[in-house]
Amino acid sequence: MKIYLATTNKNKIREVSHILYSETNVLGIFSPDEIGGMPEVDESEDSFLGNARLKARALRAIAPAGVWIVADDSGLEVDVLGGKPGVHSSRYAGENSTDEENIAKLLREMESVPDGKRSARFVCFAVVLEPSGMEKIFRDACEGVITRAPAGDQGFGYDPLFIPEGFDKTLAELGADIKDRLSHRARAMKELAFWLKYTQTAFGAGV
Ligand code: IMP
Repeated sequence: MKIYLATTNKNKIREVSHILYSETNVLGIFSPDEIGGMPEVDESEDSFLGNARLKARALRAIAPAGVWIVADDSGLEVDVLGGKPGVHSSRYAGENSTDEENIAKLLREMESVPDGKRSARFVCFAVVLEPSGMEKIFRDACEGVITRAPAGDQGFGYDPLFIPEGFDKTLAELGADIKDRLSHRARAMKELAFWLKYTQTAFGAGV
């Protein structure tokens, strides 16, 4: 079995390959770089699922026949902001904005929000496309709160602002081992891996 991951984000490739490999022992997990790079995708849908599908289908179009495609779309939903930045998480402060600019914008918007009202969650939709074209969808989330200042230098995106439930440090301080256990993407990908392992083994294909 060969799985291609529909992302250019090196952090995601590391996180997702690690999870899929440790849950299924599939050795053939590849980045789009192996087949000329991930095609440019305009993430124009207004839902995580819609954008995950766009990425999966774009990679399917250039991938060899017979391989599996895994794509995800994820983002941060802040309750007091009505779910923003949501699908706009990566470009919250404008097209091509950096993580630092997005973080600064979010902190400005939440300046007057009291501690008890800073709840948020990272959400992940994962899509797997079978070689036959059949699609399976997984969704999970990681609940937490938004800090008042960035802390930590690991991870990416909003990690320096996000304290997951049950912890008192940000994801950027907690680091990869803990993030791989509790993140939205880790949870959704574990469900995907479990499904893959179960169905493929059950139907005799092996993983
Ligand atoms: P994507 O479209 O799924 O690549 O992610 C959209 C954006 O959501 C990223 O650019 C980040 O700003 C944010 N995001 C998604 N997952 C994470 C995460 O694990 N940590 C921090 N930020 C994340």
